[in-house]
Amino acid sequence: MNNVYDVLVLGGGPGGYTAAMYAARAGLSVAVVERLAAGGQMALTHEIDNYPGFEDGVDGFTLGAKMQQGAERFGAQTIYGDVQAVDFLGNVKKLHTQEETYYGRTVIVATGANPRKLGLPMEWELTGKGVHYCAACDGMFYRGKTVVLVGGGNSAVADALTLSRVAKKVIMVHRRDTLRASKIYNEALNEAENIEIRWNSEVKGLQYAERVNGVVLRNNISGEEELLACDGVFVSIGRNPATELFVGQLELDENGYIVAGESTTTNLPGVYAVGDVRTKAVRQIVTATADGAVAAHEIEEFLAANVA
Ligand code: NAP
Repeated sequence: MNNVYDVLVLGGGPGGYTAAMYAARAGLSVAVVERLAAGGQMALTHEIDNYPGFEDGVDGFTLGAKMQQGAERFGAQTIYGDVQAVDFLGNVKKLHTQEETYYGRTVIVATGANPRKLGLPMEWELTGKGVHYCAACDGMFYRGKTVVLVGGGNSAVADALTLSRVAKKVIMVHRRDTLRASKIYNEALNEAENIEIRWNSEVKGLQYAERVNGVVLRNNISGEEELLACDGVFVSIGRNPATELFVGQLELDENGYIVAGESTTTNLPGVYAVGDVRTKAVRQIVTATADGAVAAHEIEEFLAANVA
Protein backbone atom coordinates (compact mmCIF):
# COMPACT_ATOMS: atom_id res chain seq x y z
CA MET A 1 0.00 0.00 0.00
CA ASN A 2 1.24 3.52 -0.84
CA ASN A 3 1.59 6.27 1.72
CA VAL A 4 -1.44 6.50 4.04
CA TYR A 5 -2.22 10.15 4.71
CA ASP A 6 -3.75 11.24 7.98
CA VAL A 7 -6.25 13.26 5.96
CA LEU A 8 -7.33 12.97 2.35
CA VAL A 9 -9.39 15.93 1.13
CA LEU A 10 -11.54 15.34 -1.92
CA GLY A 11 -12.08 18.69 -3.64
CA GLY A 12 -10.02 21.89 -3.60
CA GLY A 13 -12.65 24.54 -2.96
CA PRO A 14 -12.67 26.86 0.05
CA GLY A 15 -13.94 24.16 2.44
CA GLY A 16 -11.36 21.64 1.25
CA TYR A 17 -8.34 23.92 1.36
CA THR A 18 -9.30 25.45 4.71
CA ALA A 19 -9.58 21.95 6.19
CA ALA A 20 -6.21 21.12 4.62
CA MET A 21 -4.60 24.24 6.09
CA TYR A 22 -5.91 23.58 9.60
CA ALA A 23 -5.04 19.89 9.51
CA ALA A 24 -1.54 20.45 8.08
CA ARG A 25 -0.90 23.22 10.57
CA ALA A 26 -1.85 20.77 13.33
CA GLY A 27 0.95 18.49 12.13
CA LEU A 28 -1.14 15.96 10.19
CA SER A 29 -0.14 14.65 6.77
CA VAL A 30 -2.65 15.96 4.24
CA ALA A 31 -3.30 15.60 0.53
CA VAL A 32 -5.97 17.46 -1.42
CA VAL A 33 -7.13 15.63 -4.52
CA GLU A 34 -8.49 18.11 -7.04
CA ARG A 35 -9.58 17.62 -10.62
CA LEU A 36 -8.69 20.97 -12.16
CA ALA A 37 -7.73 24.05 -10.21
CA ALA A 38 -8.21 25.35 -6.69
CA GLY A 39 -11.35 27.26 -5.79
CA GLY A 40 -14.24 25.08 -6.93
CA GLN A 41 -17.38 27.07 -7.83
CA MET A 42 -15.76 30.13 -6.28
CA ALA A 43 -13.09 30.14 -8.98
CA LEU A 44 -15.80 30.86 -11.55
CA THR A 45 -16.87 34.04 -9.74
CA HIS A 46 -15.45 37.22 -11.22
CA GLU A 47 -15.73 39.38 -8.13
CA ILE A 48 -16.27 38.30 -4.55
CA ASP A 49 -17.29 41.14 -2.25
CA ASN A 50 -18.53 39.17 0.72
CA TYR A 51 -15.42 37.33 1.85
CA PRO A 52 -13.91 39.31 4.71
CA GLY A 53 -10.45 40.81 4.45
CA PHE A 54 -10.65 42.04 0.86
CA GLU A 55 -11.88 45.62 1.05
CA ASP A 56 -11.85 46.00 -2.75
CA GLY A 57 -13.24 42.54 -3.45
CA VAL A 58 -11.26 39.67 -4.96
CA ASP A 59 -11.76 37.40 -7.95
CA GLY A 60 -12.56 33.82 -7.09
CA PHE A 61 -9.68 32.28 -9.01
CA THR A 62 -7.16 34.37 -7.07
CA LEU A 63 -8.82 33.61 -3.75
CA GLY A 64 -8.78 29.88 -4.57
CA ALA A 65 -5.07 30.00 -5.41
CA LYS A 66 -4.36 31.89 -2.17
CA MET A 67 -6.23 29.29 -0.15
CA GLN A 68 -4.21 26.54 -1.84
CA GLN A 69 -0.93 28.32 -1.12
CA GLY A 70 -2.02 28.88 2.48
CA ALA A 71 -2.53 25.14 2.95
CA GLU A 72 0.66 24.18 1.10
CA ARG A 73 2.66 26.56 3.29
CA PHE A 74 2.06 24.12 6.17
CA GLY A 75 2.89 21.05 4.10
CA ALA A 76 -0.44 20.03 2.55
CA GLN A 77 0.06 18.42 -0.86
CA THR A 78 -2.11 18.92 -3.90
CA ILE A 79 -2.67 15.91 -6.15
CA TYR A 80 -4.30 16.58 -9.51
CA GLY A 81 -6.55 13.69 -10.38
CA ASP A 82 -10.09 12.80 -11.31
CA VAL A 83 -11.48 10.56 -8.58
CA GLN A 84 -13.71 7.95 -10.18
CA ALA A 85 -14.54 5.69 -7.24
CA VAL A 86 -14.21 5.75 -3.47
CA ASP A 87 -14.16 3.16 -0.72
CA PHE A 88 -14.95 4.69 2.66
CA LEU A 89 -16.15 1.57 4.44
CA GLY A 90 -12.89 0.23 5.92
CA ASN A 91 -10.54 1.82 8.46
CA VAL A 92 -8.35 3.03 5.60
CA LYS A 93 -10.30 5.22 3.18
CA LYS A 94 -9.51 4.94 -0.53
CA LEU A 95 -9.83 7.34 -3.46
CA HIS A 96 -9.38 5.74 -6.88
CA THR A 97 -8.38 7.70 -9.96
CA GLN A 98 -7.78 6.01 -13.31
CA GLU A 99 -4.05 5.76 -12.58
CA GLU A 100 -3.70 5.62 -8.79
CA THR A 101 -5.29 4.79 -5.47
CA TYR A 102 -4.80 7.22 -2.57
CA TYR A 103 -5.18 6.13 1.05
CA GLY A 104 -6.21 8.09 4.13
CA ARG A 105 -6.95 7.38 7.77
CA THR A 106 -9.69 9.98 7.40
CA VAL A 107 -11.30 11.68 4.44
CA ILE A 108 -12.99 15.04 4.01
CA VAL A 109 -15.52 15.30 1.20
CA ALA A 110 -15.52 18.82 -0.23
CA THR A 111 -16.90 18.23 -3.70
CA GLY A 112 -19.42 21.09 -3.65
CA ALA A 113 -22.66 21.58 -5.55
CA ASN A 114 -23.14 22.90 -9.04
CA PRO A 115 -25.98 25.27 -9.88
CA ARG A 116 -28.40 23.83 -12.43
CA LYS A 117 -28.17 25.55 -15.78
CA LEU A 118 -30.99 26.51 -18.11
CA GLY A 119 -29.18 24.89 -21.01
CA LEU A 120 -29.49 27.92 -23.31
CA PRO A 121 -27.12 28.72 -26.16
CA MET A 122 -24.38 31.13 -24.94
CA GLU A 123 -25.36 30.61 -21.28
CA TRP A 124 -21.86 29.45 -20.36
CA GLU A 125 -20.10 32.20 -22.33
CA LEU A 126 -22.29 34.91 -20.77
CA THR A 127 -21.82 33.68 -17.21
CA GLY A 128 -20.57 36.68 -15.27
CA LYS A 129 -21.59 38.92 -18.19
CA GLY A 130 -25.23 39.11 -17.25
CA VAL A 131 -25.90 35.47 -16.39
CA HIS A 132 -25.54 34.65 -12.69
CA TYR A 133 -26.30 31.78 -10.35
CA CYS A 134 -25.87 33.47 -6.96
CA ALA A 135 -27.98 36.49 -6.01
CA ALA A 136 -26.22 36.91 -2.66
CA CYS A 137 -22.86 37.03 -4.47
CA ASP A 138 -23.61 39.09 -7.56
CA GLY A 139 -26.89 40.92 -6.89
CA MET A 140 -25.18 44.11 -5.80
CA PHE A 141 -23.83 44.66 -9.31
CA TYR A 142 -27.42 45.38 -10.36
CA ARG A 143 -28.17 48.36 -8.18
CA GLY A 144 -30.93 50.39 -9.84
CA LYS A 145 -31.17 47.92 -12.75
CA THR A 146 -33.72 45.44 -14.07
CA VAL A 147 -33.08 41.74 -13.59
CA VAL A 148 -34.84 38.53 -14.54
CA LEU A 149 -34.89 35.80 -11.90
CA VAL A 150 -35.72 32.27 -13.08
CA GLY A 151 -37.24 29.69 -10.71
CA GLY A 152 -40.11 29.13 -8.34
CA GLY A 153 -38.62 27.32 -5.34
CA ASN A 154 -37.50 28.59 -1.95
CA SER A 155 -34.11 29.66 -3.27
CA ALA A 156 -35.68 31.57 -6.14
CA VAL A 157 -38.02 33.49 -3.85
CA ALA A 158 -35.25 34.23 -1.36
CA ASP A 159 -33.10 35.40 -4.28
CA ALA A 160 -35.93 37.55 -5.68
CA LEU A 161 -36.28 39.25 -2.30
CA THR A 162 -32.51 39.77 -2.05
CA LEU A 163 -32.42 41.28 -5.54
CA SER A 164 -35.48 43.46 -4.89
CA ARG A 165 -33.55 45.30 -2.19
CA VAL A 166 -30.92 46.33 -4.74
CA ALA A 167 -32.41 46.30 -8.22
CA LYS A 168 -34.97 48.71 -9.60
CA LYS A 169 -37.10 45.84 -10.83
CA VAL A 170 -37.09 42.06 -10.51
CA ILE A 171 -39.03 40.02 -13.06
CA MET A 172 -39.51 36.53 -11.66
CA VAL A 173 -40.09 33.90 -14.34
CA HIS A 174 -41.68 30.63 -13.28
CA ARG A 175 -42.67 27.78 -15.56
CA ARG A 176 -45.93 26.93 -13.71
CA ASP A 177 -48.80 28.92 -12.18
CA THR A 178 -47.95 28.17 -8.54
CA LEU A 179 -44.73 28.52 -6.64
CA ARG A 180 -42.97 25.51 -5.20
CA ALA A 181 -41.68 27.82 -2.45
CA SER A 182 -43.18 27.71 1.06
CA LYS A 183 -46.23 29.89 1.63
CA ILE A 184 -44.30 31.63 4.37
CA TYR A 185 -42.69 33.71 1.63
CA ASN A 186 -45.98 34.94 0.13
CA GLU A 187 -46.39 38.00 2.31
CA ALA A 188 -42.86 39.29 1.71
CA LEU A 189 -43.26 38.61 -1.99
CA ASN A 190 -46.53 40.53 -2.19
CA GLU A 191 -45.09 43.40 -0.22
CA ALA A 192 -42.09 43.82 -2.50
CA GLU A 193 -43.50 46.31 -4.97
CA ASN A 194 -40.69 45.95 -7.47
CA ILE A 195 -41.14 42.18 -8.02
CA GLU A 196 -43.28 41.17 -10.96
CA ILE A 197 -44.06 37.48 -11.53
CA ARG A 198 -44.46 36.05 -15.02
CA TRP A 199 -46.31 32.78 -14.55
CA ASN A 200 -46.30 29.80 -16.94
CA SER A 201 -43.25 31.23 -18.61
CA GLU A 202 -39.77 30.09 -19.52
CA VAL A 203 -36.64 31.83 -20.71
CA LYS A 204 -35.96 30.38 -24.14
CA GLY A 205 -33.05 32.54 -25.24
CA LEU A 206 -30.56 35.20 -24.23
CA GLN A 207 -30.28 38.52 -26.03
CA TYR A 208 -26.81 40.04 -25.84
CA ALA A 209 -24.12 42.29 -27.27
CA GLU A 210 -21.07 42.40 -24.96
CA ARG A 211 -23.37 41.41 -22.11
CA VAL A 212 -26.92 40.22 -21.67
CA ASN A 213 -29.45 42.91 -22.54
CA GLY A 214 -32.63 40.88 -22.72
CA VAL A 215 -34.26 37.47 -22.74
CA VAL A 216 -36.72 35.69 -24.99
CA LEU A 217 -39.67 34.70 -22.87
CA ARG A 218 -42.12 32.01 -23.93
CA ASN A 219 -45.56 31.59 -22.44
CA ASN A 220 -46.09 27.85 -21.94
CA ILE A 221 -49.88 28.10 -22.32
CA SER A 222 -50.25 30.37 -25.34
CA GLY A 223 -46.90 29.56 -26.91
CA GLU A 224 -46.34 33.27 -27.49
CA GLU A 225 -42.81 34.60 -27.35
CA GLU A 226 -41.72 38.09 -26.40
CA LEU A 227 -38.45 39.94 -25.99
CA LEU A 228 -37.96 41.25 -22.48
CA ALA A 229 -35.25 43.88 -21.94
CA CYS A 230 -33.15 43.39 -18.79
CA ASP A 231 -29.64 43.97 -17.49
CA GLY A 232 -29.07 40.55 -16.05
CA VAL A 233 -30.50 37.06 -15.52
CA PHE A 234 -30.25 35.16 -12.25
CA VAL A 235 -30.84 31.43 -12.56
CA SER A 236 -32.14 29.88 -9.34
CA ILE A 237 -33.51 26.50 -10.35
CA GLY A 238 -31.75 24.34 -7.78
CA ARG A 239 -28.33 22.79 -7.43
CA ASN A 240 -26.86 19.39 -8.05
CA PRO A 241 -24.57 18.31 -5.22
CA ALA A 242 -21.57 16.39 -6.52
CA THR A 243 -22.31 13.19 -4.59
CA GLU A 244 -22.74 10.46 -7.23
CA LEU A 245 -19.50 8.81 -6.04
CA PHE A 246 -20.83 8.31 -2.53
CA VAL A 247 -24.19 6.66 -3.21
CA GLY A 248 -24.48 3.49 -1.14
CA GLN A 249 -21.77 4.58 1.32
CA LEU A 250 -22.71 7.99 2.71
CA GLU A 251 -26.18 8.92 3.86
CA LEU A 252 -27.66 11.47 1.44
CA ASP A 253 -30.82 13.56 1.89
CA GLU A 254 -33.68 13.59 -0.64
CA ASN A 255 -31.88 16.28 -2.68
CA GLY A 256 -28.61 14.33 -2.80
CA TYR A 257 -26.69 16.34 -0.17
CA ILE A 258 -24.50 14.45 2.34
CA VAL A 259 -26.27 14.35 5.68
CA ALA A 260 -23.87 16.11 8.06
CA GLY A 261 -24.52 18.74 10.70
CA GLU A 262 -22.32 21.54 12.01
CA SER A 263 -19.79 18.97 13.27
CA THR A 264 -19.30 17.87 9.61
CA THR A 265 -19.36 14.21 10.69
CA THR A 266 -21.19 11.79 8.40
CA ASN A 267 -22.74 8.38 9.00
CA LEU A 268 -19.28 6.80 8.60
CA PRO A 269 -16.52 7.19 11.22
CA GLY A 270 -13.54 9.05 9.81
CA VAL A 271 -15.51 10.59 6.94
CA TYR A 272 -16.43 14.29 7.05
CA ALA A 273 -18.34 16.56 4.66
CA VAL A 274 -17.66 20.29 4.36
CA GLY A 275 -19.03 23.18 2.33
CA ASP A 276 -21.85 23.15 -0.19
CA VAL A 277 -21.98 19.35 -0.44
CA ARG A 278 -23.42 18.87 3.04
CA THR A 279 -26.90 19.59 4.40
CA LYS A 280 -26.88 23.20 5.61
CA ALA A 281 -28.93 26.38 5.49
CA VAL A 282 -26.41 28.88 4.12
CA ARG A 283 -24.06 27.90 1.30
CA GLN A 284 -21.41 30.62 1.17
CA ILE A 285 -17.60 30.77 1.06
CA VAL A 286 -17.41 31.78 4.72
CA THR A 287 -19.60 28.89 5.82
CA ALA A 288 -17.51 26.47 3.74
CA THR A 289 -14.26 27.72 5.27
CA ALA A 290 -15.81 27.49 8.73
CA ASP A 291 -16.71 23.86 8.01
CA GLY A 292 -13.11 23.20 7.03
CA ALA A 293 -11.83 24.38 10.40
CA VAL A 294 -14.43 22.31 12.25
CA ALA A 295 -13.64 19.15 10.25
CA ALA A 296 -9.91 19.47 10.96
CA HIS A 297 -10.65 19.82 14.66
CA GLU A 298 -12.96 16.78 14.61
CA ILE A 299 -10.27 14.78 12.82
CA GLU A 300 -7.61 15.65 15.38
CA GLU A 301 -9.88 14.26 18.09
CA PHE A 302 -10.82 11.21 16.01
CA LEU A 303 -7.20 10.32 15.25
CA ALA A 304 -6.17 10.84 18.86
CA ALA A 305 -8.89 8.44 19.97
CA ASN A 306 -8.14 5.89 17.23
CA VAL A 307 -4.37 5.56 17.38
CA ALA A 308 -3.44 2.67 15.10
P1 NAP B 1 -36.09 23.49 -5.76
O1 NAP B 1 -36.94 23.51 -4.55
O2 NAP B 1 -35.80 22.20 -6.45
O3 NAP B 1 -36.78 24.48 -6.81
C1 NAP B 1 -36.31 24.60 -8.10
C2 NAP B 1 -37.24 25.54 -8.84
O4 NAP B 1 -36.70 25.74 -10.14
C3 NAP B 1 -38.64 25.00 -9.02
O5 NAP B 1 -39.56 26.05 -8.92
C4 NAP B 1 -38.62 24.41 -10.43
O6 NAP B 1 -39.86 24.51 -11.09
C5 NAP B 1 -37.66 25.35 -11.12
N1 NAP B 1 -36.96 24.69 -12.21
C6 NAP B 1 -36.21 23.54 -12.16
N2 NAP B 1 -35.67 23.29 -13.37
C7 NAP B 1 -36.09 24.29 -14.18
C8 NAP B 1 -35.85 24.59 -15.55
N3 NAP B 1 -35.06 23.82 -16.32
N4 NAP B 1 -36.41 25.70 -16.06
C9 NAP B 1 -37.18 26.50 -15.29
N5 NAP B 1 -37.44 26.28 -13.99
C10 NAP B 1 -36.89 25.17 -13.45
O7 NAP B 1 -34.66 24.14 -5.51
P2 NAP B 1 -34.22 25.27 -4.46
O8 NAP B 1 -35.18 26.39 -4.45
O9 NAP B 1 -32.79 25.58 -4.78
O10 NAP B 1 -34.28 24.56 -3.06
C11 NAP B 1 -33.53 23.35 -2.82
C12 NAP B 1 -33.89 22.84 -1.43
O11 NAP B 1 -33.44 23.76 -0.45
C13 NAP B 1 -35.41 22.71 -1.26
O12 NAP B 1 -35.67 21.60 -0.45
C14 NAP B 1 -35.77 23.99 -0.55
O13 NAP B 1 -36.95 23.88 0.22
C15 NAP B 1 -34.54 24.22 0.33
N6 NAP B 1 -34.41 25.64 0.63
C16 NAP B 1 -35.03 26.11 1.74
C17 NAP B 1 -34.98 27.45 2.05
C18 NAP B 1 -35.67 27.93 3.26
O14 NAP B 1 -36.37 27.17 3.88
N7 NAP B 1 -35.53 29.17 3.63
C19 NAP B 1 -34.30 28.35 1.23
C20 NAP B 1 -33.69 27.85 0.09
C21 NAP B 1 -33.76 26.50 -0.22
P3 NAP B 1 -41.11 23.57 -10.67
O15 NAP B 1 -41.62 24.16 -9.39
O16 NAP B 1 -42.04 23.70 -11.82
O17 NAP B 1 -40.53 22.20 -10.51
